[in-house]
Amino acid sequence: MSALPNMHDAESIPPEARAEIDRLLQSGDLFRYTAPQDAPVTLLEQEFAQFLGSRYALAVSSCSAALFLSLKALDLPRNAAVLIPGFTFAAVPSAVVHADCRPVLCEVGTDYRIDLDDFAAKLPDVQAVIISHMRGHTSDMDAILTLCAALDVPVIEDAAHSLGTTWRGRNIGTLGRIGCFSFQSYKLINAGEGGILVTDDADLVARAIIMSGAYEQNWAKHGAVHTACATWQNLLPLYNLRLSNLSAAVIRPQIPHIARRVRDGRRNHDHVAHALTASPWINVPSKLSPEERAPDSLQFNLSGMSDDEVLAFVAAAESAGIKVQVFGLSRDNARAFWNWQFLPDLPDLPQTRAMLMRACDTRLPARLTLVECEAVAQLLLTAADQVMSLPTRAYGT
Ligand SMILES: *Cc1c(COP(=O)(O)O)cnc(C)c1O
Repeated sequence: MSALPNMHDAESIPPEARAEIDRLLQSGDLFRYTAPQDAPVTLLEQEFAQFLGSRYALAVSSCSAALFLSLKALDLPRNAAVLIPGFTFAAVPSAVVHADCRPVLCEVGTDYRIDLDDFAAKLPDVQAVIISHMRGHTSDMDAILTLCAALDVPVIEDAAHSLGTTWRGRNIGTLGRIGCFSFQSYKLINAGEGGILVTDDADLVARAIIMSGAYEQNWAKHGAVHTACATWQNLLPLYNLRLSNLSAAVIRPQIPHIARRVRDGRRNHDHVAHALTASPWINVPSKLSPEERAPDSLQFNLSGMSDDEVLAFVAAAESAGIKVQVFGLSRDNARAFWNWQFLPDLPDLPQTRAMLMRACDTRLPARLTLVECEAVAQLLLTAADQVMSLPTRAYGT
């Protein structure tokens, strides 16, 4: 069997980043608002907005900061209810709490997407919605946008892990009022840390710009939103969630690599997903038809296995060299809603809980070759076979 690939290392940062980083180190010009114009962070915002087809972009310190600022920019009343999926990263309910709002959790299906019946039932009682396209799985945005438009509820897209995904040919993150992306190391663009929000709404972005820390007249370096920013002068708190020029210098040269990473990630994912159909115990949910995915990891559900067998599968995969996490069975997992104990009224979501107890997560970097992906698939298939056939053999003649 071919050697198992390294599943964890990041792709190296494009060498084009070096000259700009050297220039910044030479000049010491690391703050986005020092240069009179064309600071790396400003150029990143222009390039990212253009790449996605959005009117405005605001780069900030993380996707969590972008989510927080989005909620603040919507000017929701204190304690407003915000509907979020029961399957998301802990940063999402955290951003809601941080913005003095109250998260309302919605059930999620075995395909990791929002349960539309539960969503429609809870929507009339909330003032905003955050849709997390968790691990890049897009919920039914046609249905969600229609339901939210009917009730005039604003939609924030948490597209942290969905850069490059499209829905009916449109970029994820540009479908709702605001879209938020992450540049943390496990996402499609890696700057260690960083985030960005995009919107077509001048007033919203103006409020977010000021609150992100464009103090005094620094907002004048944000181009076409002068009038909107001037309206809010001195009226908003400054949370100082800015991005550094060094981070922008690491991010910008990766934008031209997005298309390749998306193409290779999808190829790798689909190859392994197809190979896994050979197992009666492994199910990879299909994408929705309007969706074109940009995966850099693989999620699949185990079926017909007890908790012990699921844990034995994880151990077998690990001893063969592949780290698989079951969201609901790995300790303190930040994507298991029952671990969000900082929330005062943690609900029970039986359907989401059942999914989390069988849903597996493994990295599948875009840089792997198909031969390496085949090795990964064979190892997962063998691990499931091993676990499920051992008891039978033990009882045999
Ligand atoms: C990574 C991630 C976040 C948080 O992003 P940060 O930039 O680390 O704050 C939020 N939501 C989802 C779905 C993520 O995958």
